[in-house]
Amino acid sequence: MRGQMMDTQLLIAPLIRNAARFHGDVEIVSRTCEGPIHRYTYADAYKRVQQLANALASRFGIAMGDRVGTLAWNGYRHFEAYFAVSGMGAILHTINPRLFLEQIEYIVNHAEDRVILVDLTFVPIIEKLIGKIPTVEAVVIMTDRANMPETSIPNAICYEELIADQSDSYDFPSFDENTASSLCYTSGTTGNPKGVLYSHRSNVLHSYGVCMTDTLGISATDAVLPVVPMFHVNAWGLPYACPMVGAKLIFPGPRLDGPGLAELIEMERPTVLAGVPTVWLALLNHLDEIGRRMEGVRIAVVGGSAAPESMIRKFQEKHGTFLLHAWGMTELSPIGTACTFKAKHLSLDQEAKYKLQTKIGKPAYGVEMRITDDEGNELPNDGVAFGHLKVRGPWVLKSYFRRDDENILDEDGWFDTGDIATVDQDGYAQIVDRAKDVIKSGGEWISSIDLENAAVGHPDVKEAAVIGVAHPKWQERPLLLVIRREGATLDKQGMLDYLETKVVKWWLPDDVIFVEELPHTATGKLLKLKLREAYGDWLMKQAG
Ligand code: AMP
Repeated sequence: MRGQMMDTQLLIAPLIRNAARFHGDVEIVSRTCEGPIHRYTYADAYKRVQQLANALASRFGIAMGDRVGTLAWNGYRHFEAYFAVSGMGAILHTINPRLFLEQIEYIVNHAEDRVILVDLTFVPIIEKLIGKIPTVEAVVIMTDRANMPETSIPNAICYEELIADQSDSYDFPSFDENTASSLCYTSGTTGNPKGVLYSHRSNVLHSYGVCMTDTLGISATDAVLPVVPMFHVNAWGLPYACPMVGAKLIFPGPRLDGPGLAELIEMERPTVLAGVPTVWLALLNHLDEIGRRMEGVRIAVVGGSAAPESMIRKFQEKHGTFLLHAWGMTELSPIGTACTFKAKHLSLDQEAKYKLQTKIGKPAYGVEMRITDDEGNELPNDGVAFGHLKVRGPWVLKSYFRRDDENILDEDGWFDTGDIATVDQDGYAQIVDRAKDVIKSGGEWISSIDLENAAVGHPDVKEAAVIGVAHPKWQERPLLLVIRREGATLDKQGMLDYLETKVVKWWLPDDVIFVEELPHTATGKLLKLKLREAYGDWLMKQAG
């Protein structure tokens, strides 16, 4: 017997419609690429969302299922694209501009983007790709006529001119909530990036999950500053979650540095911040330098890589801000866990609370989590046993975009996150290591395997190993260990000069150490754990 409740679909357009109707006067504030601060309201945003939808339909014939790419910072025009594109039933493909140019070319072609909306900063990227991305029929530069750049992009269109004459009324259709809404590519350790195709349903459920008090607890009384980019896992879903509850949004645009953020925080008084540890490190250092205390920031959400205890302490003791440790990944929309307290934790002393906060917390309702051994047997939740962290739930992917034939789930339908973790009796998880040794530099991926492969391409290199080691600014940076071929004279500079021709500059190892031998496992694989034990603090020691 079926239930007799309404079959209303969980769609993205109603999020902004609802915000315009019930929180119409709430502000969205953006630092722009052009320079000035822009401010308007949810009511204003909704009108422009509808103008953009009309423009995409009438000028380019964008329809259900078409992919529209964006290469943009966190800002109001990008926000408009989030709702116009998905609202029409088309698919918003947020492109990470920090990817290698060849990877951007690959993903634009793989996604078959028809239109790309690009911020001023990233126009040079598209200029380099012209002629190599045949599916792209139009490029829209997200600015006004006065700021349109000189560009070699043929027939580049000005965003403000594109939407200017369009009606601010668009009848967003209703359709199956399982329809694809947005697409985000992961930059994995090997091979080409893989696409994660979200649905309207997954994004709306994820928004409910994010707003729950025991997750990020966002409400209509909050002002939220997402420093996490809208080009990397939808800025942790905040552009959807904030309109769901009517929270003010503050977008930092291209200024993600300490002084830029401190100024924005002082001006706009956010109650919630969200970003990776590197960003908070820069902000805290700057606030120290200028001797300023943040006022009114209730929580700073941190994720993407592990938050050190020193950071948790500093936020609390200097700024009265609770550092809320969260964990997630592109494949999870992205939030999986959040380290909020239970009633019994409230009476813990401060030191014990800090200790707890170093964990990634418990799963948001909707995400199921377990750890297994290599054979897939479930391990105990005792806070000691560690194993493969696996998840399932309505906002976890089941297959990658256009790789439907590859089964990525285990026999019981769980997705292996690639992380190694413990889970304690209360369900709080802690990341022990990444199964694949990927290096996280400032919240971005660096593939140790790709770097090793590049290094061994040099004729003087016999074997190479790359590990991520602690760095005072970037959290982690690559360290390269090399065994030279007999008689070879290769030095550090020669190695780096060679690598510079093979990888993007920010991937270059911070140091190169020449060794006589490298440790291996029984099956001949590099034993990186051992290398990390030996060299983990190499750069910290050098920095003094
Ligand atoms: P991405 O898909 O780029 O968001 O990266 C996801 C990966 O980042 C996860 O699988 C983890 O390895 C790592 N990660 C995310 N949050 C945390 C955290 N709080 N602590 C440690 N690692 C994290």
